[in-house]
Amino acid sequence: MKIPKQIKLGGQVINVIFDDEMCSRDSVLGQCDNNHNKIILAKNIFGDSIPEDRIERTLYHEITHWILFNCGEEELYKDEKFVDRLSLFIQELVTQNKL
Ligand SMILES: [Zn+2]
Repeated sequence: MKIPKQIKLGGQVINVIFDDEMCSRDSVLGQCDNNHNKIILAKNIFGDSIPEDRIERTLYHEITHWILFNCGEEELYKDEKFVDRLSLFIQELVTQNKL
Protein backbone atom coordinates (compact mmCIF):
# COMPACT_ATOMS: atom_id res chain seq x y z
CA MET A 1 0.00 0.00 0.00
CA LYS A 2 1.22 3.45 -0.87
CA ILE A 3 0.87 5.71 2.15
CA PRO A 4 -1.35 8.65 1.08
CA LYS A 5 -0.29 12.24 1.75
CA GLN A 6 -3.89 13.15 2.53
CA ILE A 7 -7.00 11.31 3.67
CA LYS A 8 -10.50 12.71 3.28
CA LEU A 9 -12.75 11.65 6.11
CA GLY A 10 -15.70 13.12 7.96
CA GLY A 11 -15.80 16.15 5.66
CA GLN A 12 -12.22 17.00 6.57
CA VAL A 13 -8.75 16.50 5.17
CA ILE A 14 -6.14 14.74 7.30
CA ASN A 15 -2.53 15.30 6.30
CA VAL A 16 -0.23 12.32 6.65
CA ILE A 17 3.38 13.22 7.28
CA PHE A 18 6.55 11.39 8.23
CA ASP A 19 8.62 12.66 11.13
CA ASP A 20 11.20 10.16 12.35
CA GLU A 21 12.70 12.61 14.83
CA MET A 22 9.41 13.31 16.60
CA CYS A 23 8.41 9.63 16.69
CA SER A 24 11.81 8.56 18.01
CA ARG A 25 11.73 11.29 20.64
CA ASP A 26 8.28 10.14 21.82
CA SER A 27 9.07 6.40 21.33
CA VAL A 28 6.07 5.84 19.05
CA LEU A 29 5.55 4.56 15.51
CA GLY A 30 2.83 7.13 14.90
CA GLN A 31 0.78 9.92 16.40
CA CYS A 32 -2.58 11.50 15.72
CA ASP A 33 -2.74 15.29 16.04
CA ASN A 34 -6.49 15.84 16.18
CA ASN A 35 -6.36 19.60 16.53
CA HIS A 36 -4.39 20.02 13.32
CA ASN A 37 -5.83 17.03 11.39
CA LYS A 38 -2.40 15.47 11.12
CA ILE A 39 -1.22 11.89 11.33
CA ILE A 40 2.49 11.61 11.93
CA LEU A 41 4.26 8.37 11.03
CA ALA A 42 7.81 7.10 11.33
CA LYS A 43 9.80 5.47 8.54
CA ASN A 44 12.74 4.92 10.86
CA ILE A 45 12.84 4.78 14.62
CA PHE A 46 15.98 4.73 16.71
CA GLY A 47 17.93 4.48 13.47
CA ASP A 48 16.18 1.32 12.19
CA SER A 49 13.78 1.29 9.26
CA ILE A 50 10.21 0.18 9.87
CA PRO A 51 8.72 -2.44 7.49
CA GLU A 52 6.08 -1.04 5.12
CA ASP A 53 3.33 -3.32 6.43
CA ARG A 54 4.03 -2.02 9.95
CA ILE A 55 3.77 1.58 8.73
CA GLU A 56 0.45 0.72 7.05
CA ARG A 57 -0.77 -0.93 10.24
CA THR A 58 0.17 2.19 12.21
CA LEU A 59 -1.67 4.41 9.72
CA TYR A 60 -4.90 2.47 10.28
CA HIS A 61 -4.34 2.65 14.03
CA GLU A 62 -3.95 6.44 13.94
CA ILE A 63 -6.95 6.85 11.60
CA THR A 64 -9.02 4.93 14.15
CA HIS A 65 -7.88 7.31 16.89
CA TRP A 66 -8.95 10.21 14.67
CA ILE A 67 -12.38 8.67 13.98
CA LEU A 68 -13.08 8.03 17.66
CA PHE A 69 -11.97 11.55 18.63
CA ASN A 70 -14.23 13.05 15.98
CA CYS A 71 -17.12 10.87 17.16
CA GLY A 72 -16.70 12.40 20.60
CA GLU A 73 -15.71 9.05 22.08
CA GLU A 74 -12.99 10.32 24.39
CA GLU A 75 -12.73 7.18 26.52
CA LEU A 76 -12.53 4.85 23.51
CA TYR A 77 -10.13 7.26 21.80
CA LYS A 78 -7.68 6.74 24.68
CA ASP A 79 -8.22 2.96 24.86
CA GLU A 80 -5.19 1.62 22.96
CA LYS A 81 -6.40 -1.98 23.10
CA PHE A 82 -9.80 -1.05 21.64
CA VAL A 83 -8.21 1.21 19.01
CA ASP A 84 -5.85 -1.55 17.96
CA ARG A 85 -8.60 -4.16 17.61
CA LEU A 86 -11.03 -1.86 15.79
CA SER A 87 -8.31 -0.66 13.43
CA LEU A 88 -7.51 -4.25 12.50
CA PHE A 89 -11.10 -4.80 11.43
CA ILE A 90 -11.18 -1.52 9.47
CA GLN A 91 -7.87 -2.39 7.77
CA GLU A 92 -9.14 -5.85 6.83
CA LEU A 93 -12.43 -4.42 5.55
CA VAL A 94 -10.62 -1.95 3.29
CA THR A 95 -7.79 -4.18 2.08
CA GLN A 96 -9.43 -7.59 1.80
CA ASN A 97 -12.70 -6.72 0.06
CA LYS A 98 -13.88 -5.16 -3.16
CA LEU A 99 -16.77 -3.16 -1.81
ZN1 LIG B 1 -2.64 4.47 19.71
